[in-house]
Amino acid sequence: MGATAVISFYSGDIRQVFAQVAQQNGGKVHLIWLPMGGDTGCAVSMLQASNPDLIDAVEDLAISADYWQVLMTPDYDLGWVSGGYTNEDQSQVPLMDAAFGDAPVDVLVVEGTPLLGTPPGGSQGSYCTIGENNGTPVTAYELLQKLAAKASYVVAVGQCSAFGGIPAAKGNLTGAVPVTEALKTAGVTTKNPVVNLAGCPAHPDWTLITLASILQGFKPDLDDLGRPTAFFSTIIHDNCPRRGAYDRGQFAGTYDDPVGCYWHLGCKGPITYSSCAITKWNGGISFCTQAGPMCWGCMHPNFPDAPVAPFFQEIPGFPGINITTLEVAGAAAVVVGAGLAIGTVMKSKKGDSEKKEEPAKGT
Ligand code: SF4
Repeated sequence: MGATAVISFYSGDIRQVFAQVAQQNGGKVHLIWLPMGGDTGCAVSMLQASNPDLIDAVEDLAISADYWQVLMTPDYDLGWVSGGYTNEDQSQVPLMDAAFGDAPVDVLVVEGTPLLGTPPGGSQGSYCTIGENNGTPVTAYELLQKLAAKASYVVAVGQCSAFGGIPAAKGNLTGAVPVTEALKTAGVTTKNPVVNLAGCPAHPDWTLITLASILQGFKPDLDDLGRPTAFFSTIIHDNCPRRGAYDRGQFAGTYDDPVGCYWHLGCKGPITYSSCAITKWNGGISFCTQAGPMCWGCMHPNFPDAPVAPFFQEIPGFPGINITTLEVAGAAAVVVGAGLAIGTVMKSKKGDSEKKEEPAKGT
């Protein structure tokens, strides 16, 4: 799905589109939302979906959310046995049926980072388990392998599953890797390319639109990092409401500055590809550089490591000039020119600016 299609999704009646999708699929779409190493922030973010909201989307798309831990009510029944596996929580039964039994799974959404353990003698995913199979704890890593091979689509929602995020940051004691790397390590082939929805958290509306588009039969245009180009082909800096201030050389000295540009305070908008500045957040109300304090680069593939870190420092030596003042006569014109030049450089150097420095977090 291209950017035009996304714009039409936003400008049209998306609920009508969702209804068509449901009709097209002739019934329920079976979705598993698999939690791995993370903080469930992306599931919580989904509760902020606004166009439509999550309940409407699930109804309109006729989604059967067979397992979604954060949103499910636990139903404890210790010792319950079904089909050879045992569970402490009956809500896990549909998950196990999908992974080890015949239950269908159309879409696998992965939230959080697969934790493969740290060699030598890696834990094979035992840092993260869900339920039991014949008395043995089932690792989320094993569930990922079974479900990803079976699902029609795999969507890695959020920075952790797409690129490793905070669990895979420098130090990485748990052997956290992106979903694509975990599947590659396990030798699992998916039916369609894994869709990476970057962000800490992922944008709920982008997630729903992505689900709607793949359920409608579109194959999203993905960039070389597996991200839908519809949401990740422009840099925040190009559409930032403070861009005028940047071009004028009007830089903020504090994070509560209502107008000035945050570049010198550490803004990572110039190196981060995302449509945050276009669609905004919370129902289109605002987003990080508009409300302040700045862009943290949470959608940059290296987040939270360099060049996104250190958070509160301007990226040294990038983009190659250091504008600090408008005091010199005529500096405004120079700055405008420099700003435009920087934008051009950023566009032409997209690959370089996003180059990953930590191989463990690559895809
Ligand atoms: Fe906006 Fe940050 Fe770019 Fe300044 S540096 S214009 S605050 S994105």
